[in-house]
Amino acid sequence: MSFNFPKINKKLENILIIGSGGRENSLAWAIQKNEIIKKIYLSPGNGGSEKFKKCKRIELDIIDKKDLINNLKILDIDLVVIGPEIPLAAGLGDYLRKNDFDVFGPNQDGARLEYSKSWAKEFMKKANIPTSNFWKIDSFEEAQKVINRSKDPLVVKADGLASGKGVFVPKSKDECLQATKTIFNGKFGESGQVVVLEEKIQGPEVSIFALCDGEKYVLLPTAQDHKRLNENDEGPNTGGMGAYSPTPLVTTNLLREITKDIIKPTIDELRRKNIDYRGVLYFGLMITQSGPKVIEYNCRFGDPECQTIMPLLDESFVTILQKCAMGNLTGNEKIGIANKVSGCVIATSKGYPHEYKTGLPIKIGNIDQTDCQIFDSGTFLSKSGELLTGGGRVLSIVCQDKNFDMVFKKAYKNLKEINFDGIYFRNDIGHQVRKNFTKRI
Ligand code: AMP
Repeated sequence: MSFNFPKINKKLENILIIGSGGRENSLAWAIQKNEIIKKIYLSPGNGGSEKFKKCKRIELDIIDKKDLINNLKILDIDLVVIGPEIPLAAGLGDYLRKNDFDVFGPNQDGARLEYSKSWAKEFMKKANIPTSNFWKIDSFEEAQKVINRSKDPLVVKADGLASGKGVFVPKSKDECLQATKTIFNGKFGESGQVVVLEEKIQGPEVSIFALCDGEKYVLLPTAQDHKRLNENDEGPNTGGMGAYSPTPLVTTNLLREITKDIIKPTIDELRRKNIDYRGVLYFGLMITQSGPKVIEYNCRFGDPECQTIMPLLDESFVTILQKCAMGNLTGNEKIGIANKVSGCVIATSKGYPHEYKTGLPIKIGNIDQTDCQIFDSGTFLSKSGELLTGGGRVLSIVCQDKNFDMVFKKAYKNLKEINFDGIYFRNDIGHQVRKNFTKRI
């Protein structure tokens, strides 16, 4: 016999967000909009985390787990949102759940989709999810054989987490061999004990985000980001130099195809593997001539796509996060999405993604506040309260408007008002969707 218990509305007043970047600040900003929320703690947060209503920084030790649980009880936390992949891969979600906290962020088994690229590829193969061909490689000699046999240069990836730096897209077989050697020589530590070689595929990339409760999901607006450091999408890969949302590339028909061939089979395969995935599932897709293919999964919100998407969502967002954490989605939820588009430009420190200085004073002048946000990505406050640079990516400048030309006009106008020694940003973010954009030669 089965009982249908009524769904109980749980208290949702105090939120803890784990993480320290622009992503976490934008999540806090979107969550504070809901009037039922009383307090949002960010641990550790950064120099810009307390500028939004209800937001407070707190230093919680996530390694000393007993202490963490005590603190969460004292703070009367109703929902924990885990931002970055490292604590998810380390099993922080599992531990908090075992101690009866509602957590948005998968357990370690679900995070494996991100922390092992070979596991993710095998997962896709098993579930017939479109992705490029691949080889899981344990030694340089084995890699040599595969690389020499292949017609074109292959993409080379360290299997484990490498902060987005463990992927090489070589132009020649020599570069391929070099990249494989670099990984096996220990550049990424344990993350590089296994290498994944992949057939190189081509096409524009799009980001899809599904908020999952283990069984059902709610999709967020689509996005596209710019990974390369320099204009014209040249230079080294970075964590992301800017983004825009939604992307017109993903039409209703294409989204239907992505849902049928990729999103649903992914969720079904997770369930088949008994993985109760409660958190955001990110699909990094390439739209190839033979249809959409998965480049990678992430077990967290992408940065800067998150900063770009959050301002488009209405106040129901946090209630959906709670439902996901409780495994309680009905499948009929719809987050209200503003009838606007959004764009984000990242201001970085000179030298990023390589060596850069920190501790440089940031001056912010007269900012247009209408539908504009500045989410701090890497900043800290001096003892006297002065805002200083604290990372490679320093500030996320985000704007919304009726069209992308208006969005980026405002964003770049605001950027003129922001200064720190060595500030660098791309002027061509969103070039694909800016009608008035003219390429500088
Ligand atoms: P990943 O960290 O796996 O998303 O890879 C970083 C970037 O490398 C992607 O955003 C793509 O631009 C590129 N890339 C990764 N895998 C492939 C592939 N199989 N073919 C072509 N480009 C790829």
